[in-house]
Order: sequence, then structure tokens, then C-alpha cells
Amino acid sequence: MRTILLAHVKRVVIKIGSGVISDHSGLDLDRIATLCEDVHALRQRGYEVILVSSAAVAAGKADLGIKGSARNLPLPIKQAAAAIGQSRLMRAYKDALRKHGLTAAQVLLTRDDLANRRRYLNARNTLMTLLEYGVVPVINENDTVVIDEIRFGDNDNLSAMTTNLVEAQLLVILSDVDGLYDSDPRHNTEARLISEVERITPEIEAMAGLEETLLGTGGMTTKLKAAKRATLFGAGTAIINGLTPHNLLYLFDGHELGTYFLPARDPMAARKHWIAFTKKPKGKLILDDGAHNAVAERGKSLLPSGIRQLDGTFERGDAVRLCDLNGKEFAKGVTNYNSAELIRIIGKNTREILQILGYQYGDEVVHRDNLVISN
Ligand code: GLU
Repeated sequence: MRTILLAHVKRVVIKIGSGVISDHSGLDLDRIATLCEDVHALRQRGYEVILVSSAAVAAGKADLGIKGSARNLPLPIKQAAAAIGQSRLMRAYKDALRKHGLTAAQVLLTRDDLANRRRYLNARNTLMTLLEYGVVPVINENDTVVIDEIRFGDNDNLSAMTTNLVEAQLLVILSDVDGLYDSDPRHNTEARLISEVERITPEIEAMAGLEETLLGTGGMTTKLKAAKRATLFGAGTAIINGLTPHNLLYLFDGHELGTYFLPARDPMAARKHWIAFTKKPKGKLILDDGAHNAVAERGKSLLPSGIRQLDGTFERGDAVRLCDLNGKEFAKGVTNYNSAELIRIIGKNTREILQILGYQYGDEVVHRDNLVISN
């Protein structure tokens, strides 16, 4: 029984994959209705529920004459299909939730919306207000307008970022498979379902393999990445089969379904998590061995004297990658100085900053509080 693991959960993000609520002909309204029954039951039990739902492309592609998988179609065609399908998808949720007296709200996000701290906090406020009013937010990527640089890419990733955004205690990924297996169950009849994962190690990552489902964009690999992000933030993550009716509710009833990833014992603070996973790095700093060691091993801030070289054009407040002399990234942080200023002060002593620039934003180029070591 998993009841104890879920005991502290108040707010839950539920990711619904395209493979769960659509087939090659479009949306499966019955599945959406069954899922919304469960959402209603969860609301009645006092949980706050945020849905992250895919299937805009799946819901619209038939109108463009696309019969098979949309996965390999050019981006503009997928975007056109999403433009047709997104309103259909929302309509389906709106109708299904309204049967239970619940209001649905559409929230479309791009990665850019969350990468900027002000917009991130603004999106958060909107979602919190919706929850306060008992509304069920239904989030999707704003597929029709995104370009590659600002895409989440897959909704597994988006659901993990949303978990951080709303500070949910649990992420449930509804998939068209039962969970994580120790080998691919489609090729190996002996494959065993892993019921609990304490830490996502390289061995666990290897189990996810490279397989992908036909309808969604993500396979198990993107789900594991999402689980890693969410658990590092302190949220447990469950991957369960969403094709089995009422599995969502069974999970909350305490049944041992799918794979449950335990939250990290030492979770990252929300701001650090945002730096590590959401903020997009704009540049690269190459550090000498001394600075690399001070930052990576001794918990120090980064000073200008330890920087050998920099790459990219960035502003004060942007995220930058911190790399060793081989160019290998070992941390990410928010810079106090823009690239033009940095060019003038790298390699210099902190005492010289004021003298060279005529002003200073502090001794540190990246303060420890704004820095996250990559693992
Ligand atoms: N946002 C896409 C859609 O709604 C799906 C992305 C995904 O499957 O991860 O169709």
C-alpha cells in the first residue's frame, strides 16, 4: 500500500499523454469523460488538481487529411493541426468537467514564459488564483506559436516544470504503458515492472531505453527526465497506465500501481530548481581548476579571478553554464555581470572590479545562492 507515501499530498499535477486520450482518428471522448470522473473524485477528496494534457495535434490532424502518426510531420503542419485541435481538446475537457460541476481553464505555455522570472511568477499567480477558485487548469504547450528555441518539446517536460511552478507534492504521468520496466516489455516477455525507485541512477536511466510511443512525443526516457526533475524538487512522481479506467483513483486509494519515484531526500529549493531546469543558459564561462574546485567541491561563489574565458552574449540576470577547462559543464548559475562587463574583469581580482568598471554589483560573478551543481 502506498497510502503513506501520498499522505502529505495536497496538490497534484496529472499529465495526460496523447496515447491515453486519442487514437489515430482523433480524441477519445469516453476516456476523457472517465478521467474527468476521477478528477472530480479527487477534488471531492480535497486535492487540488492541475492537468497537463497533450493531444491537440492528435485532435486536429484528421482535418488536414493526416491518417497515421503526426510525429515525423514538419513543424508547421503539426502547429496547424494543434491550432485546429487545441480548442477541440479544451471543449472535451470543459464538457466532461462541467458534468461534475467543475470549471476548466485553458493555460497555454511556452518555455519562454517560464524562463523569465517575472513571467514565471505571473504564470504561477494565475494558476494559484484558478486553484483558489476551485477551477481545474488544463495546461498544454502553446504549440501553434512555438519555435524550437522556446519549446518544452514534450509534455512530460512541461508537466515537471508545472509541478515546480505550482509547488505540487505529486506528479502523476498517465501513460499508455504500465510504468518503468527493467527491459522493453514489447521485446522481452520476462520484463519486470519496477514498482519503486528511490533515486534515478544511470542504471535506471538505461532501463528506459530509447523506445517511443506512436502517438505522443515522449517515450520512457522523457518520462524519466520528468520524474528526475520533479523528484529533485521534492515531489513524488508516479507513472501509471492511463488506459485502464480509473487507475488514477486506484493510485490515490493506495494501490501499488505503476512505478513510483520517491521525492529526493534533500530537495532543491524552488528557485534553484528553476535555475537548474527552467532558465535557459545564454552563455558559458570556462573556469580554471582552482575556481572549478572551489565551486564544485567547496560550496564557494564564483569570483572573476577564476574565469579564463567566456562564450556568448548575455545580460546581468541571465543563466550561464559553468564549465571546467575541458569545456564540460558542471554547474549552472545566474550571472551578476553581463558579457561585456565580464570580458573586462575576468581573471582580475575582486578589488579591481570597481576600478575597471567604475561600479560594481558585488564581488561574485555568480553568487552561491544562485548556483546549482549539475549531477
Ligand atoms: N503538445 C502536444 C499536443 O498537445 C503534445 C506534446 C507531447 O505529446 O508531449 O499535441
